[in-house]
Amino acid sequence: MKTAVVWLRRDLRLDDQPALRAALEAGQVPVPLYIHAPHEEGAWAPGAASDAWLQRSLQALGEDLRARGSGLVLRRGDSAQVLAEVIAECGAEAVYWTRKYEPATQPRDARIKRTLREQGIACESFNGALLFEPWELATQQGGPYKVFTPYWRSALAQWRVAAPWQAPAQLPAPPKLGSDALASWGLQPSPRWDSGFWSHWQPGEVGAHEMLAAFVEGALQGYREQRDLPDRIGTSQLSPHLHFGEIAPWRIVHALQSLEGAAPATDRDAYVRQLGWRDFAYHLLHHFPRTADHNLDARFDRFPWAASDEEAVRAWQQGRTGIPIVDAGMRELWATGYMHNRVRMIVASLLCKHLRQHWRVGARWFWDTLVDADLANNTLGWQWVAGTGADAAPYFRVFNSVAQARRFDVQGRYIARWVPELARLPVAQRFAPWEHPEALKTHAPDYPPQPIVDLVQGRVDALAAYARMRATA
Ligand SMILES: Cc1cc2nc3c(=O)[nH]c(=O)nc-3n(C[C@H](O)[C@H](O)[C@H](O)COP(=O)(O)OP(=O)(O)OC[C@H]3O[C@@H](n4cnc5c(N)ncnc54)[C@H](O)[C@@H]3O)c2cc1C
Repeated sequence: MKTAVVWLRRDLRLDDQPALRAALEAGQVPVPLYIHAPHEEGAWAPGAASDAWLQRSLQALGEDLRARGSGLVLRRGDSAQVLAEVIAECGAEAVYWTRKYEPATQPRDARIKRTLREQGIACESFNGALLFEPWELATQQGGPYKVFTPYWRSALAQWRVAAPWQAPAQLPAPPKLGSDALASWGLQPSPRWDSGFWSHWQPGEVGAHEMLAAFVEGALQGYREQRDLPDRIGTSQLSPHLHFGEIAPWRIVHALQSLEGAAPATDRDAYVRQLGWRDFAYHLLHHFPRTADHNLDARFDRFPWAASDEEAVRAWQQGRTGIPIVDAGMRELWATGYMHNRVRMIVASLLCKHLRQHWRVGARWFWDTLVDADLANNTLGWQWVAGTGADAAPYFRVFNSVAQARRFDVQGRYIARWVPELARLPVAQRFAPWEHPEALKTHAPDYPPQPIVDLVQGRVDALAAYARMRATA
């Protein structure tokens, strides 16, 4: 029996799975393997919410493989060593995987590929995660893009989408190999602060496809207009599924294209453009690998961040800043492992600008608490809001949390949902409750009576800091 190791990483699916497909097309029995090696991810080993998701996603993948007559080998340790052991145990003649793009694991994968090939093992890697891999698009001068619009224009000019591929209902049985018990990896949080997550999320490929179907039948209609409104399900909520590779982005594009006539092109195009932002984030992280930790715009290396303010950061993390839209977002994050994109921008702006805490502080908290925590997207998001990144919002554009809330949570429903003590206030008073001290005292006596930072003064201070940085240029 000819066998091939299918090394699964962040592509926890069977459909549109090029590594699995390669083994089958070569007439080899696939041996699906997942190696738990968080120590190889450098400073960005997955956070607690990611681990909780991973546990369930691997569980689902293992069940799906077993139902098809195959199985999933789970091992923990150094990837190169575990691969060598598994290759020896099953006599594999080939190893296949889909590419990861993070700075810590890219060189590891290149090393492993070189070594295996030197040993006579066929070794191939594939694109399993992106519409365009980071090196596929380049400026006229051959360099990386730093601005999204020309990047996306170039993507559209070269547009092509991989064809969907459906995994066979039955897979060949692999040789029996020893496997760790998933529970022994300690991925599940203790205490179980994630218990509220799972009424909403279903990690794994089936959950991803169900989420896509629900989106296509629901929020896609009107996506362009409603994607900014946090009080409703106006977006696809596919980000954790995309992060873990439970669905391929080109599968989503095909699903939208097949709706020709049934859903407005403006909504479909607006959605595909967001997938473009995701590709762009990977493009940036690949070409500027230091940006997970360092400003892309080096001028900001001189920015006078405020001294670390643990008390303020804790209030921000716990959703107790006294600014309702910010608290609603941070509490949504804590309760569900997710936060609406518009609100991510609002809470990030408060932290980086009004409180002038370094964007890394926020990026780290998101990293630990988001189920969709993704090094490329998170880095892009934080550097964009902080004004330190590519194509960033200019630093001087400081979000006004109250105006943002009034504009995007018009009925104050998002605030009422996540900060229920404010639901008893009339809608008009929910956005800046400190302006209505009597109502606050009566209806929400435990809610902070004043915001953690004066929003007007905080803005002035942020702009002054920016001016100081520019003066030292
Ligand atoms: C400070 C900050 C931090 C962020 N951290 C992350 C993160 O760790 N992981 C993550 O996946 N997204 C992150 N984002 C981007 C965005 O908020 C989420 O991708 C989005 O909210 C996910 O919800 P959705 O799947 O319903 O999005 P939809 O609107 O349905 O978009 C579809 C898909 O496009 C991609 N996408 C959408 N918006 C963006 C964007 N601005 N940048 C890159 N890709 C995007 C996502 O993969 C998303 O699933 C961050 C944004 C900000 C402002």
